Amino acid sequence: MTETTTAINPPGNLSIIEPARRLPVRAQADVVVCGGGPSGFVAAVAAARAGASVLLIERYGFLGGMATAGMVGPLSKFNLGGERIVDGIPGEFIRALHAAGGAIIDLPSGNIPYDVELYKLTAQRITRHAGVDILLHAQVAGAIVSKEESGWLTHVIVETKSGREAVAAKQFIDCTGAGDLVARTPLPCELRNQRETGDLQPMSLYFRLGGVDTDKLNILMAHDGMKYANPELRAALAGEVKAGRLRNFGGPWAVHGSTIRPGEVSVNATRITGNATDADDLSSAELILREETPVVIDIFRRHHKAFAHCYLIETATQIGIRETRAIRGLYTLTASDILGARKFADAVALGGHPIDVHKTDSGQSVKFLDAPYQIPYRTLAPEGSKNVLVAGGTLSATREAFGSVRVQAQCMALGQAAGVAAAICAQDGESVSTLDGVALSARLKAEGVLI
Ligand SMILES: Cc1cc2nc3c(=O)[nH]c(=O)nc-3n(C[C@H](O)[C@H](O)[C@H](O)COP(=O)(O)OP(=O)(O)OC[C@H]3O[C@@H](n4cnc5c(N)ncnc54)[C@H](O)[C@@H]3O)c2cc1C
Repeated sequence: MTETTTAINPPGNLSIIEPARRLPVRAQADVVVCGGGPSGFVAAVAAARAGASVLLIERYGFLGGMATAGMVGPLSKFNLGGERIVDGIPGEFIRALHAAGGAIIDLPSGNIPYDVELYKLTAQRITRHAGVDILLHAQVAGAIVSKEESGWLTHVIVETKSGREAVAAKQFIDCTGAGDLVARTPLPCELRNQRETGDLQPMSLYFRLGGVDTDKLNILMAHDGMKYANPELRAALAGEVKAGRLRNFGGPWAVHGSTIRPGEVSVNATRITGNATDADDLSSAELILREETPVVIDIFRRHHKAFAHCYLIETATQIGIRETRAIRGLYTLTASDILGARKFADAVALGGHPIDVHKTDSGQSVKFLDAPYQIPYRTLAPEGSKNVLVAGGTLSATREAFGSVRVQAQCMALGQAAGVAAAICAQDGESVSTLDGVALSARLKAEGVLI
């Protein structure tokens, strides 16, 4: 996609050698969790409650990842067929969010509209209450692998306002949503793109509108098997693309996703393709979708009476990134595992979201599910890993399977599994590759996890 707008790119493949330097070790924990999104804060809470000392490292000034910084609501998929499929710490979190006045948690679809600000605060409270140390405004920038013991990581490198620093741990969990830690180790990790075309699911910049006549809209999440993109607006956006006034769009979904108040909707409509692990693509995508946001709002105003007097409250802190890197794990979840509801002895969570793959045009391929499926522990352990796990969006799953498992309730549930696994490994000096996944599954079940 890259649209390079600068004239400062040096010719050829210029490079320099960065001089080696001594770094302060700012902290030493049993478990370090990188990234404080849905999987990360839950992983940190789970590890701390399992007895580990835990440091959670997050690059923004708040927790929640795509749920808050990206505003990508609702929180899916807590139910299938009206039955809860995710509970445990994620269940506790949504109940706390509801109690704080920040979520609608009883819709049969198990898609949960929420308030972004209350999400940030509730996630922070549950995490601190568990005894987790949180380091905000810290970017994971590197990893140091042990020279003595093959496959073990000794430190992550962070860039903070204090400078470049190291953090030591017995166990590490990569919850950056993009494999930022694993990609800086020799462990297997690559883009989850379509091999023939290189396609990744597109990015979307969310925004929140006020002044909407929400009584005229279906603003709550539909039941299983129903689509809830707005058909009138979809036709209008398609017309504008045809006329060359808009490049692309998705949905659009203008619903109570990351908002719960009358008169407000969050909008998932902008769309752009690119590789979000490429600095130029990511920068360019943000710039282009910020330009397209007012274009989309103008189309909404002109084509649907509910939006006639709407106004922009805010755009998300960052563009929503659906798909980047994936590890090659001890097991790779497939679409046939999901569609066949395959059982796994080391199951640690349940999924139920449709296999929902957004295409590079305005299309979407959706296969709804009849039954929940199990997700095995081994999808979280990179092949050959000793003390690095992942949770959330970097798990080992084929592209199609990822279309289902990528949503937030499942990422949170996997965070709980990874947190407990890392705490056990830290306590026992065990490798994540040889951890008894069957025993882990039994322990999680005993702790209220639905499996
Ligand atoms: C456009 C779009 C629409 C979506 N719609 C829905 C939906 O309707 N419902 C749903 O449930 N899910 C939806 N999702 C999926 C949802 O975003 C993911 O399920 C979820 O955010 C994954 O959680 P995660 O913890 O793996 O990663 P993220 O949410 O990406 O969290 C990663 C965290 O790590 C931090 N981080 C990243 N890199 C670094 C670094 N190098 N150093 C330090 N910190 C770092 C980030 O700031 C962030 O806090 C959507 C996603 C997109 C992009």
